Amino acid sequence: MRAESGKSLLVKASQESEAAVETRKIIHIDMDAFYASVEQRDNPELRGKPVAVGGNKERGVVAAASYEARKYGVHSAMPSVRAAKLCPQIIFVRPRFNVYREVSHQIRSIFFKYTDLVEPLSLDEAYIDVTHVKKGPPSATLIAKAIKEEIKNVTSLTASAGISYNKFLAKTASDMDKPDGLYVILPEEAKEFIEKLPIKKFHGIGTATAEKMIKAGIFRGSDLKARSLEDLTQRFGKTGKYYFNISRGIDLRAVTPDRERKSVSAENTFDHDLMSLTDVIDKLTPIQKEVYRRYEKTGGFGRTVTVKIKYGDFKQITKSHSSDEPITNYEAFSESINKMIDESILKPEGIRLLGVGISNFVRKQSDPVARQLTLEF
Ligand SMILES: [Mg+2]
Repeated sequence: MRAESGKSLLVKASQESEAAVETRKIIHIDMDAFYASVEQRDNPELRGKPVAVGGNKERGVVAAASYEARKYGVHSAMPSVRAAKLCPQIIFVRPRFNVYREVSHQIRSIFFKYTDLVEPLSLDEAYIDVTHVKKGPPSATLIAKAIKEEIKNVTSLTASAGISYNKFLAKTASDMDKPDGLYVILPEEAKEFIEKLPIKKFHGIGTATAEKMIKAGIFRGSDLKARSLEDLTQRFGKTGKYYFNISRGIDLRAVTPDRERKSVSAENTFDHDLMSLTDVIDKLTPIQKEVYRRYEKTGGFGRTVTVKIKYGDFKQITKSHSSDEPITNYEAFSESINKMIDESILKPEGIRLLGVGISNFVRKQSDPVARQLTLEF
């Protein structure tokens, strides 16, 4: 009897918390063609022209493409060679991360005027929970409008905003009306919106998965919703549950400020393939210094160091080294890398890319998880 009433109380509590979740108001802000727009802002000669920020024409990858370049089919993560083929007049510009970081800081200060519930996803993207705000109009849409206006005033750049009651829908919405967009999905509209949405447009479903889904006859939200949880987990593993939920408009993830980092990494593609160990060590040094600089900023403690090597024939290997103790100084980090770098990594094709990463983060040194590490036998 007592057990039963306890159980029904639990059910009631979880129903209540779900109701609270339904009334969340979340904005997803995404700057338009961010790096490229900053370059066009700062260099009038680039305005109205197809611009690719990233590696040079011979090697490297496009990090961001201006809208003019996108008309030719150029997009981020595309090899620069391919971009130049699609759009011969494209202008390649070297990225200036210090400037992008500065703009990123400016836009984040604008978000914090409204709430502290800001979760940055990258330099130019963030979720903002505006269910309760410090100031501003009594509507999430009006707040999004005000944020966009202030971004425009402060940075001379445009952003797109998506507004809805959960992260999945807010993020999907910000992509619907780019550039300079404002798109709202109201709770009562969500069902129909998702049912009609082409599978490629679902946030969280990448190109490869979308293709897999299309092959399986899942073309839009309604097709996804028609699949059972068993079917989706069988096909897509753990993520199947996420797909099952989002097809029903359910995404209970909260906006979490200062989300804990899981890894730090950096990589570089070279103008000429590296053929000798001296060259490799030479080129690796600035990358590992950069990674360590970023690692220090996170304030986290990682235990695994990874080295990524891509050869001239685009074949890629990764090596990793884990230590029992988290990395707390540059020497230990460097030593880990040295253990993985010797003549055996060289190949006649040469090395075109090197990357380094630190992962396997434990919380804080004073934290039980980290302490456990030193206590373990
Ligand atoms: Mg963006």
